[in-house]
Amino acid sequence: MVDLHVDTPWKVHFKGRSLDLVEGHATPKTLGAGGYRGIVYPIYLADYLNDGHPRIADADAVLATIRKLVARHDILAWAPGQPGYTGPLSPGTIGVFVAIEGAGAFADDITQIDRFIAAGVRLVGPVHAANNALATSATGKPSPNRHAKPAGLTPLGRTFCERVYAAGALIDVSHMSTAAFADLEPIAQKYRAPIVATHSNAHALAKHPRNLSDRQLRVIAATGGVAGLNVYRPFVSRGKKVSLRDVVAQVRHMVKVAGVEHVAIGSDYDGGTPVRALRDASRWPRLVAALRDKGFSDADLRKIFAENALRVLAWKPAASRP
Ligand SMILES: [Zn+2]
Repeated sequence: MVDLHVDTPWKVHFKGRSLDLVEGHATPKTLGAGGYRGIVYPIYLADYLNDGHPRIADADAVLATIRKLVARHDILAWAPGQPGYTGPLSPGTIGVFVAIEGAGAFADDITQIDRFIAAGVRLVGPVHAANNALATSATGKPSPNRHAKPAGLTPLGRTFCERVYAAGALIDVSHMSTAAFADLEPIAQKYRAPIVATHSNAHALAKHPRNLSDRQLRVIAATGGVAGLNVYRPFVSRGKKVSLRDVVAQVRHMVKVAGVEHVAIGSDYDGGTPVRALRDASRWPRLVAALRDKGFSDADLRKIFAENALRVLAWKPAASRP
């Protein structure tokens, strides 16, 4: 089990949760029971930090918290490719990867992203819930001029995305607007980079602006990327009762449209409210069993639950061409 998005650092850094992780969806106990071998911890920077101006120093502070979590818990270790990696992970150990969710602070000085990527950041989401100086958000305010072409990546945002790819990390489109996603496509192509949506589902089954259209799912597949299944209820279904059956429907749709090589898991545990049947990180065997009932093979399940995520996490840019 490899999970592309678990918000525990946010809970610990900003919401007062103890570093001991005795509460929440993703504790050492639930992660162990859920068979976790890899986890992506985002450095999440809220749009409202410092009166709407999150700063690069905030990212340093959250990274320090993630390091404390890894140091505190025997079950956590640095994943292969991360600077703290010390050799093959022993069985039952979970490899930690770092990401950034909401990189608006880096508009102050985009060169600073280099040292975060050198410090292990593998995925960078330029934007969170509100538009910023890099990109418009899936949930951002539309332009007051409704005749204007929808804004996507700003010129600085384009340069930023290029810089992230050149430095060897990937852009996470999960919170990006449709226009920003479209603006990213030629940039990703230029760097032969897989487009990754760490925690977004299919819009066809749940009309949430954070979810992906079938076209976007196909683009992600064409780049070799992945979409990570989010189990936060409003992203699974817009119905009143959201059940495991709806999660299964999401996986089947995403696999039908993108292909089994391009669907992964990005739970959003410790961020949103998960579907009851998957209410904490120990519950994945239920989804595995439900998918097996629908005809998914062990090979398919290994791809969805681990291999696809590991493939994109291991991405490196092609050697620079003349
Ligand atoms: Zn998110």
